[in-house]
Amino acid sequence: MKIKAQMAMVMNLDKCLGCHTCSIPCKHVWTDRKGAEYMWFNNVETKPGIGYPKKWENQEIRKGGWHLQDGELQLRAGGRLKKFVGIFHNPDLPDLDDYYEPWTYDYEKLTSCPPSQHQPTARPRSLITGQNTEINWGPNWEDDLAGVHETGLDDVNFAGMEKEIYLKFKKVFMFYLPRICEHCLNPACVASCPSGALYKREEDGIVLVDQERCRGWRYCVSGCPYKKVYFNWSEGRAEKCILCYPRIESGQPTLCAQSCVGRIRYLGILLYDADRIKQAASVLDDQGIYKAHIETLLNPNDPEIICEALDQGVPKNFVVAAQRSPVYKLAVEWKLAFPPHPEFRTLPMVWYVPPLSPLIQGVENQDTDVEKNDFMRIPFRYLANLLTAGDESPIRFALKKLIKLRKFMRSTRVSDKPDYKSLEEVEMTEVVAKEMYRLLAIAKYEDRFVIPTTARQETEDMYQGRGRLGFPAKSLRPAE
Ligand code: SF4
Ligand code: SF4
Repeated sequence: MKIKAQMAMVMNLDKCLGCHTCSIPCKHVWTDRKGAEYMWFNNVETKPGIGYPKKWENQEIRKGGWHLQDGELQLRAGGRLKKFVGIFHNPDLPDLDDYYEPWTYDYEKLTSCPPSQHQPTARPRSLITGQNTEINWGPNWEDDLAGVHETGLDDVNFAGMEKEIYLKFKKVFMFYLPRICEHCLNPACVASCPSGALYKREEDGIVLVDQERCRGWRYCVSGCPYKKVYFNWSEGRAEKCILCYPRIESGQPTLCAQSCVGRIRYLGILLYDADRIKQAASVLDDQGIYKAHIETLLNPNDPEIICEALDQGVPKNFVVAAQRSPVYKLAVEWKLAFPPHPEFRTLPMVWYVPPLSPLIQGVENQDTDVEKNDFMRIPFRYLANLLTAGDESPIRFALKKLIKLRKFMRSTRVSDKPDYKSLEEVEMTEVVAKEMYRLLAIAKYEDRFVIPTTARQETEDMYQGRGRLGFPAKSLRPAE
């Protein structure tokens, strides 16, 4: 057993407002410079939809992630030889139109134009060419279902469903899906890079691009099935979400998590067995991967695991933080959070609590709450295609737990007659229900973010290591 620690995130989709407040601080801090205009390390998509870049989930087109070939785990885009032969032409890359052509406006025209009969306008101007441009796609184009009756037809999460029905006005459903890099346990971006420029940090599993080694081959961009590595066209290097590691190291949450208005984000440490990764990613049946993934995560309260982790050099403050980790509780203990598209076999480490949704008309007043989740507006099948490779049962159980939790809390708060029967049906105790309620509904800062500090600055010269740590390479820095 090889024990390692991983910083992980859970997002509670039930509470995401789609306000995009998370994306803005991220944009301003990490991608606010030339060549990075079109990048959103954090973006929020409306589901159903094809997202940003277009059709990122469709690996028939994008060829990202891993698959099993003759029982062996292989990169879907092909191995080293295939990459070497085609190193100057990578046909699987999304192009700028799939992301969007970034633009700005001539704001000055609004204030400097002379008085006239008509209101002044500022035309959109491309940030790439500087010319006037037409806007016809963006990172948030399908916001609140805009145009989804057309684009939604290409949403792969409708697999096995009558998608046309769910895109009709009366049947349509929606929720928001915020996305960052998954900092996967089995990252396809790292395995795809011919220069070995991407790597997973030893101490906390954050995946970074070494800017000094990156040669701009862009295989990481196509290799990542979540399309969370981007190519900086100005610097000729790859860039990606760094999970705000300078903040994490000092015990602070990422900017997206800190600023999240809905308080949907949770950050915590997980301990995992690195020796089990290959086995978990190679499970034959796509639907078995989620279970195997959970089994790679270790119980931080088990005395044997604690001893072994400390012996293997996991810092004590990491082990203590893992015991209080909200991510461990939500993903492993309570099984409320799920990894997106486990069938991509990268073992993602940003998990989602599926959203509850209004009941379809006619069932609201019936007292059939046990099966009420069968009548939710968001179909199980859709959520299962997104989160559990199509296996509906874990999603059903998680949503049922959330419904029973609501029912129980309402019975204690409103009628003062605690409904213990509801809890029994989902094998939950009152103590767990109250803890769950505190974590999900009250979501206090200190419960949401349990982040151990790392004192790297005391052992290394961080200034010298900037390129390795994802900041601009030496050759691109202004003279010092
Ligand atoms: S989600 Fe992040 S870690 Fe996973 S493959 Fe993509 S870029 Fe790599
Ligand atoms: S800030 Fe939070 S609530 Fe708002 S869109 Fe981002 S994740 Fe959702």
